[in-house]
Amino acid sequence: MQIKAPRGTYDILPPDTGRWHYVEKILRETAEIFGYQEVRTPIFEHTELFERGVGTSTDIVTKEMYTFKDKSSRSLTLRPENTASCARALIEHSIYSGILPAKWYYIGPMFRYDRPQTGRYRQFHQFGVEAFGSNNPYLDAEVIILLVEVLKRLGLNDYELHINSVGCPQCRELYRQKLIAYITPVKDKLCSDCQTRYEQNPLRVLDCKEDTCHRAIAGYPTLLEHLCHDCARHYAAVKEALKASHIDFQHDDNLVRGLDYYTNTAFEIHIPGIGAQSAVGGGGRYNGLVAECGGPDLPGIGFAMGIERLLLAVDTVAGREINAGNTDVFISIMNDAYEPQALELLTRLRLAGIRAEKDYMGRSGRAQMKYADKLGARLAIIIGEEEIAQGFYTLRDMQSKEQVQISDQDIINSVKHRLAIA
Ligand SMILES: [Zn+2]
Ligand SMILES: [Zn+2]
Repeated sequence: MQIKAPRGTYDILPPDTGRWHYVEKILRETAEIFGYQEVRTPIFEHTELFERGVGTSTDIVTKEMYTFKDKSSRSLTLRPENTASCARALIEHSIYSGILPAKWYYIGPMFRYDRPQTGRYRQFHQFGVEAFGSNNPYLDAEVIILLVEVLKRLGLNDYELHINSVGCPQCRELYRQKLIAYITPVKDKLCSDCQTRYEQNPLRVLDCKEDTCHRAIAGYPTLLEHLCHDCARHYAAVKEALKASHIDFQHDDNLVRGLDYYTNTAFEIHIPGIGAQSAVGGGGRYNGLVAECGGPDLPGIGFAMGIERLLLAVDTVAGREINAGNTDVFISIMNDAYEPQALELLTRLRLAGIRAEKDYMGRSGRAQMKYADKLGARLAIIIGEEEIAQGFYTLRDMQSKEQVQISDQDIINSVKHRLAIA
């Protein structure tokens, strides 16, 4: 029987890996110029970390985790997200007692036992940033500006940024009671999920996907009207900072978080052109998370983006074709006898930093040119009888088909010049 990749997983094959490198490079560069450094945590953690750090009542923990016992009967889980792991590492290495804020980014695979569907996988990839140690609202703005900058650099200028404040445990508790009182008389009109959860967690009715639930609670009291003085001031500062940085946003009362450790700023970013699942990233402040994971009372804020979703957005709306070719120069020989010269020049080009390739399959001259096109080569160097006899190379522009004769001495510089490599 043929062995295939497990359901919900997929291989990223060349040349597609080139597209991943392109996006990952932009993610890393952007995070680094904003002062975030990469953190790499284990792919699996103790299950308890996610129960605490993601929340036992969430769909992720109740339905979607890859949990298994190892040979010593420890319960381990493949990470469904990375914020809890970052908080765990921060505590374990006492980063909180060093220089703050600790500004980290990560990039890598996450795992959720979800029903596979288009664009949804059981092993998927996320990029995210976390900043621990400060409650300063301008740090919230910085994180959002970084998120927007990533999209701009990917050519995704048409985005919608939704923001809200979910307050603090104090003001939210008051609001929770008001919301329950508002929902109770219309509870029969809610979907079955909302009927069971609204008393425990009425906020989740606000972000329910069912239209009927939204209609049933139309005109509901908003969290914004119930923020305490400090939370209202914090939110106002975030909005003011975004305006000053010319970042467009819209306040969204429905953007809420179901767990207690989320506080203040919540945000989500959408690319309208990519279909119903338009959110490419989201995040917010989680001032209670580090304490929840067993650490000190340390504030934090961050976001995560799905890389599959970003690639989809780049393909469908950015109008930008990522050149995933791996070759700039192709050496074509007209006779097997010139193999040694070809290989010598090939190595010289490569050692000069030029991505160069030749044929190893005995292709004809014509077939070599087709192959060069497939590899994405911009230039070809032709070595034939005349070239060998008179001691020059024919340098061909693959696009314009224009050919020039170049001496051995000038070939490297000439290629570099044409490729605009400094
Ligand atoms: Zn508050
Ligand atoms: Zn509902």
